Amino acid sequence: MTEASTNGRVVIVTGGSRGLGAGIVRSYLASGDRVAACSRSRTPEVDAWEKDPETADRFLFVPADLSKSADAKTFVDAVIAKWDHIDVLINNAGVARDGMLGLATDDDIDTVVDLNIKGTLYMSRLVGRRMLARRTGSIVNISSIVGRSGYRGLAVYSATKAALDGLTRAMARELGSRGITVNGIAPGYLRTEMSHGLDDGQMDQIVRRTPAGRLGEPDDVARACQFLTDPLNTYLTGQVLVIDGGLTS
Ligand code: NAP
Repeated sequence: MTEASTNGRVVIVTGGSRGLGAGIVRSYLASGDRVAACSRSRTPEVDAWEKDPETADRFLFVPADLSKSADAKTFVDAVIAKWDHIDVLINNAGVARDGMLGLATDDDIDTVVDLNIKGTLYMSRLVGRRMLARRTGSIVNISSIVGRSGYRGLAVYSATKAALDGLTRAMARELGSRGITVNGIAPGYLRTEMSHGLDDGQMDQIVRRTPAGRLGEPDDVARACQFLTDPLNTYLTGQVLVIDGGLTS
């Protein structure tokens, strides 16, 4: 990857305010790209990117609840108004609700399905149309290893991640002839707020079973996003890359 090949791309990262999304935002800002992020609330990191003279001109934050189609449109419209086009979409925003399926409320199910599946569909539809018109672009859907293996107490979440892997493959087929790549990344367990729901015993067990001997870091996934969205990477599409330190190998 050369700097000239990436510098200045317009990159959208959903859920870019913290956790994995913030790590991905940081990575694209470091490669000289322009980055638009959304989430429902601001964070100190968002404030810092807006103020830092190194990034202020290349960073846009839009408050948006992506489980609402209208918010997704507001977000994409704001990016187009500022930068005219979109080169890269990272569908990262996601939510989990712990608990056995038998105890899940309608609200639990709606919250997870509405963001993880419908939010990703809204964003991919809006941005995919823009990319089709320009015949170029890259999309990455952030999935999870539990979309394949399942996880006790994460049935709804696992179902949504399996759905995303299907979406990745279908979109790759729909958009491939127009120069657009669509791939997924299925991380293992990362050190972010989302994994705080796991107790110490579960954490220890995961680390013990992971050949790399540690939990994943946002940077581990951000590097893979950069690889999959490299403009020279025109033949790798429709795949879901597992990044889990070897846990499910
Ligand atoms: P996180 O720390 O909880 O961050 C989630 C991000 O999504 C935040 O920016 C959050 O901001 C945003 N978000 C939540 N609900 C939203 C909504 N309705 N509309 C717009 N933005 C919303 O989670 P994470 O661990 O970084 O997870 C990021 C992605 O990686 C998710 O897709 C997750 O499924 C996946 N993943 C995580 C792990 C892990 O172990 N952590 C493993 C595999 C895959 P607001 O709350 O302010 O909206």
